[in-house]
Amino acid sequence: MIAAVAAEREGDAVRTLLIGGQWRAAENAMAVVNPFTEEVVGYAACADGANALAAVDSATRGAVAMRALSSGARSALLHRAADALARDAETFARAITAESGKPIAHATREVGRAVNTLRLSAEEAVRLTGETLAFDSMPGGEMRSGFYFHEPVGVIAAITPFNDPLNLICHKLGPAFAAGNAVILKPAEQAPLVGVMLAELLLAAGLPAEALNLLTGRGDVFGAALVGHPDVAMISFTGGARTGERIAAAAGAKRLAMELGANSPVIVAADADLAKAAIACASGAFSAAGQNCIGVQRIYVHATCYDEFRARLIAATEALVVGDPALPETEIGPMIGNAEAARLERRIDQAKALGATVLTGGTRQGALFRPTVIENAPDDADLVCEEAFGPVVSLFAFADLDDAIVRANAPRHAIHAAIFTESLRDALHVARRLEAAGVMVNDSTDYRLDAMPFGGAKGGNMGREGVRFAVREMSQTKTVCFNAA
Ligand code: NAD
Repeated sequence: MIAAVAAEREGDAVRTLLIGGQWRAAENAMAVVNPFTEEVVGYAACADGANALAAVDSATRGAVAMRALSSGARSALLHRAADALARDAETFARAITAESGKPIAHATREVGRAVNTLRLSAEEAVRLTGETLAFDSMPGGEMRSGFYFHEPVGVIAAITPFNDPLNLICHKLGPAFAAGNAVILKPAEQAPLVGVMLAELLLAAGLPAEALNLLTGRGDVFGAALVGHPDVAMISFTGGARTGERIAAAAGAKRLAMELGANSPVIVAADADLAKAAIACASGAFSAAGQNCIGVQRIYVHATCYDEFRARLIAATEALVVGDPALPETEIGPMIGNAEAARLERRIDQAKALGATVLTGGTRQGALFRPTVIENAPDDADLVCEEAFGPVVSLFAFADLDDAIVRANAPRHAIHAAIFTESLRDALHVARRLEAAGVMVNDSTDYRLDAMPFGGAKGGNMGREGVRFAVREMSQTKTVCFNAA
């Protein structure tokens, strides 16, 4: 049974560190708590700097083993892992719900996406081809011929957040292995156990023993030792902007992929299908209890349809089923913890003090925050200018589309933006001018296909995931040139 290694505490030996192909314990362990029931669902070892150094040492050997594998073998092992994950989907979904509070229906969807991410990785492993080069295109090169191909970068440190605890790991491990790299994985401290389960599954699927090392625990304790290590060739980070800045500073000159946060805007134009827009925005704002890097946070609505859209959004929000994430009908579960819910509450209080009105929601029981719609929040309220990462959305009226674009573009970080309109001309105009890496037309900002290029547009975001794109970033080209002269 895959969950066994993490779900039970054997005395003081909580063996969730995978180093050198062995499951190891650390001096300290931390409890993993279900944010809804507040029950302890497992324990994770707390890695330290020495563990990080040992993991890098092991991964350096793992990188040699991965490099020796043919692309066909890498593809086959990723297909086997995808098959195994599909077979164990229910167990993984229950584990996601238990440690992160994500509703079981959404956790099941996440596992399905993770299977797809591994499959896409398996397919990309055999598509990582180069091409011939026209050396004879410039005088002096007539007798030269050659080609380039892609090589692995070596050891990649993969650091992931709590909100999609399985699929975001697959978005790093799948492409890294497809390209022939070794990985040191640091899953989120709040939800590390699905990462442990996935590591077991990958080893069982035939991954070379030292190609994956896993460090559970607190990133701020051993993160600098890990990312600053000269043998780590690349850091692939998904998480908050502040953490990203700390990691970049400790890493120094190194290949970085930074998938940071955002504060996604939606524009609802005067000619929009308001029923469709309201339902999409409610889902996009509140899914995963708003803990979604592309969740809808700000909605700019044309003044002529503001009242109708507001009424529809409130109705769609109040229709959401909020509660126990273990129940199949639940759409919105708890936030990741009481502290995060309290932080959101303080931000709503601050916005209210600055003149905002709560139209629905605004209350919580522990980590369970009612989906909240706000209006009249000033542009400098934290809820408007910072990432909220909780179930709250702010409404604004606009009269001029270009003014809405300027306001939509104001925050420092961006990933996706969206517009609802029936006008092709407005859709294209807005898509060109919104500062985002993806613009959704007649869809919520939280739409994502795992095969599409995905990343951020500004504020230190760098790199693209979406399997094919991550595979390219996790490899480097090598040119071979023959001189026949
Ligand atoms: P976080 O930044 O607190 O933690 C992310 C990871 O970094 C965790 O594994 C944590 O242990 C680790 N970490 C913390 N300090 C570290 C250090 N000094 N060195 C190395 N590792 C360290 O983020 P979170 O609260 O888990 O997740 C929420 C954030 O993630 C939000 O800002 C959200 O927008 C962002 N996110 C972005 C994407 C994306 O694709 N762009 C996807 C999901 C979440």
